[in-house]
Amino acid sequence: MSLLHSNLLNGLNFSGGPGVLPESVLQQVQDSILAVPEVGLSILGISHRSDWFATVVAELEDNVRQLLKLPKNYHVLFLQGGATQQFSMLPMALLAGKTHPAEYLHTGYWSGKALPEARREGPVRVVWSGESCGFGRLPADEELDFHADAPYIHYVSNETVEGLQFHRVLGRDDVPRICDMSSDFLSAPGDFERFSMIYAHAQKNIGPAGVTVVVVKEELLKDTPDNLPGFLDYRTQIETHSIYNTPPVFSIYVVLLVTRWLRDQIGGLAAMDAINTRKAETLYQALDESNGFYAGKAARADRSKMNVSFNLPTPALEAEFIASALAAGFSGLAGHRSIGGIRASLYNGLELSAVEKLADFMANFRSHHLPLVAGVGKGNH
Ligand SMILES: *Cc1c(COP(=O)(O)O)cnc(C)c1O
Repeated sequence: MSLLHSNLLNGLNFSGGPGVLPESVLQQVQDSILAVPEVGLSILGISHRSDWFATVVAELEDNVRQLLKLPKNYHVLFLQGGATQQFSMLPMALLAGKTHPAEYLHTGYWSGKALPEARREGPVRVVWSGESCGFGRLPADEELDFHADAPYIHYVSNETVEGLQFHRVLGRDDVPRICDMSSDFLSAPGDFERFSMIYAHAQKNIGPAGVTVVVVKEELLKDTPDNLPGFLDYRTQIETHSIYNTPPVFSIYVVLLVTRWLRDQIGGLAAMDAINTRKAETLYQALDESNGFYAGKAARADRSKMNVSFNLPTPALEAEFIASALAAGFSGLAGHRSIGGIRASLYNGLELSAVEKLADFMANFRSHHLPLVAGVGKGNH
């Protein structure tokens, strides 16, 4: 029996990140540690300057282009430093020395992390902040007023910690739109050519940590400063086809396998979205049918299909829930350390059957604990 099959927790991994990966991909990865079939060498010991690795980067770039339906004037880059490095790298290129502020939305934990990094490079205007409402909802269009002279607009499509997701494209078409899609990248189709830049690290939806996909429109970089460090200059990365220095060969290879799985096994982003939608509906239904025992954090209209954050009536019950869930084989359900509670992450690699099992477990747990907390449930908001 392989290690993979003796480890039953893998199929029920609801971790917020690094997230679960499809089992068929993990099996190929397992083989590649000993030898990549078409090369005969371990993936951990293949040169990034080899012809084979150049074909890996080229195929991955092509797969991302096709999945996102990107036109030719976009570059697809595989960078290091995670999404956090993009928080700095993009304002270094696009905000330094500007007089008009870049426009940022502050909708949760991760968009909040981007703000101080941007402020270090140039002026920033917070167009809307959800801080006063405890990041329980996202803004409506009437609450947003974007200025035409901004160098760019920045927002996070899916707030991973709070479980809030925009189900529309924001901003205005005459100002470059930049989006951190780290936690919902390649989870659904969309109008991706309406963005001037999209970035997403791999470790939520599409692979292991170590690589960050950056999709950038050629026109966005036309007057970036000349004095940037080579590593942090998008143009150097473009010229060197993401092999400016030693890239994370392993991580890039796994992301390639995930894009092949998305295309061949799943059938593309529309099919992936259909599965993700059913998973999310299954879990939100478990919340909605619990009469307030499982209280969702996000306003209904802004519920994320990727991260379902909720609370139980007391912190003690939450601790008991996490412990019982772990004993039953479910892992990764503790909420983010910044806000606590429970979070179930339903990334691409998680199967519908895992969500159905979790919903059953939740119904059972509730019926066992309901007598203890009679009168506590307040109903969902
Ligand atoms: C997890 C996460 C990050 C942080 O990414 P790192 O790769 O750890 O720097 C940034 N943005 C979003 C939306 C995230 O979910």
